[in-house]
Amino acid sequence: MTANNGTEEQAADVVVVGAGLIGATLAAALGSAGVRVAVIDRLTGSSQVAPTFDGRTTAIAHGSQRALETIGVWRFLGHHAQPILDIRISDGRLDPTGGPAPVSPLHLHFDHRQAARPGEAVAPMGHIVENRHIRAALFRRLEELPAVSLLAPAELSGAERSDNEARVVLADGRAINAALLVSAEGRGGMLREQAGIRLHRAGYGQTAIVVTAEHALPHRGVAQEKFLPAGPFAILPMTDDPATGAHRSSIVWTERAELVPALLRLSEAAFQNEFARRFGEHLGAVKAVGPRFSYPLSVQTAERLVAPRLALVGDAAHGIHPIAGQGWNLGLRDVAALAEIVVDAHRLGLDVGHASVLADYERWRRVDGLAMIGATDGLNRLFSNDVLPLRLVRDVGLAAVNRMPPLRRFFMRHAMGLIGDLPRLIKGEAL
Ligand SMILES: Cc1cc2nc3c(=O)[nH]c(=O)nc-3n(C[C@H](O)[C@H](O)[C@H](O)COP(=O)(O)OP(=O)(O)OC[C@H]3O[C@@H](n4cnc5c(N)ncnc54)[C@H](O)[C@@H]3O)c2cc1C
Repeated sequence: MTANNGTEEQAADVVVVGAGLIGATLAAALGSAGVRVAVIDRLTGSSQVAPTFDGRTTAIAHGSQRALETIGVWRFLGHHAQPILDIRISDGRLDPTGGPAPVSPLHLHFDHRQAARPGEAVAPMGHIVENRHIRAALFRRLEELPAVSLLAPAELSGAERSDNEARVVLADGRAINAALLVSAEGRGGMLREQAGIRLHRAGYGQTAIVVTAEHALPHRGVAQEKFLPAGPFAILPMTDDPATGAHRSSIVWTERAELVPALLRLSEAAFQNEFARRFGEHLGAVKAVGPRFSYPLSVQTAERLVAPRLALVGDAAHGIHPIAGQGWNLGLRDVAALAEIVVDAHRLGLDVGHASVLADYERWRRVDGLAMIGATDGLNRLFSNDVLPLRLVRDVGLAAVNRMPPLRRFFMRHAMGLIGDLPRLIKGEAL
């Protein structure tokens, strides 16, 4: 439709700004339930799935996987997903003579078979999937949904919100009217800033190097996290390379930020040597393959998750340290909660952007976000150092938890996204 002033006008129930891993999932969830969604991103879908765009993998917790199944995304993804059967956590330090990093004999071991409650089916703790495959699966699902219109590339140039309605204007002059705006803009958040929602943010002085490792021996679904003094070195099992059959793991190698540029500039042989020292010898000969990515790490939280006609989800609401592989899973619980509240209101013919809808969302999601920030921040502070008393406390702590099956089960169920006041999608129920 063209308005009197010549702008092209569209209408939707919900406008989602940001079609990253979280915004695209929200659009798929709402669209699957027939809510009319316009989802906007400044990047095209094809640029987001290019191998050089995002080299990360995501540890998809069991609860998040159930949500993806329910909204019709998992069927495009399952064949790319590596089940996580075991997690091994150990404390270590680098060998000053250049050999492989020895790890403390006191460690923590999570076995997926011990996570199930009596009578419950045994399930993997989660799955590791390359982000580019998650993005591709989400875009395929969005294409199927008549209720969703994906506008990409499109840049947001302005937004207006009143008590009764909201409207966004795009840089190319198009405008979209809706009952609710959602910021899934990631850590930058123009909508959050425009709404005057304050952000609390702190850098960690750490950068994560992300690479793929190829190793001689199969990983057998075991994820490893080694806590080295500069930060965690995570070895996340991937599916074998479909072209070559090589055994692969995705590596999140956290280092002090100031050292990372020099590490990335090392000669190939020197980089492989530094890499292999940290990786260790448990999977035989190992090498880093493909492009190397780096992500500066910080924590941030928005002071409020809502403003009139606006909700924040995912990293726009709370961005955490990747130490426990939980950022996207946390955002997915935002998505599942907001989708449930909006779909319920929509079915009853109510205003989906009403203040009561937003208040319900803020109440539901505030505690989980803050708890996750506290847990990941605390873990990083406890482990990313070489202070002897702390080293003793954490090693004894790891060993103690390892000896307590109920506590181990609690941690496992937490990591699987199965604890708390869960939205229907996370329980695997339809919206
Ligand atoms: C090294 C590393 C490893 C991680 N591993 C895990 C893991 O194993 N498990 C896990 O759960 N989480 C993990 N995370 C966290 C996870 O990657 C993030 O939480 C998640 O990607 C956040 O997604 P998002 O969609 O909220 O934000 P983003 O990915 O930042 O997406 C925001 C999107 O909005 C678009 N956009 C922004 N502003 C505008 C605008 N004004 N107009 C138009 N478009 C706009 C951007 O183009 C972008 O596509 C990891 C993070 C890091 C750094």
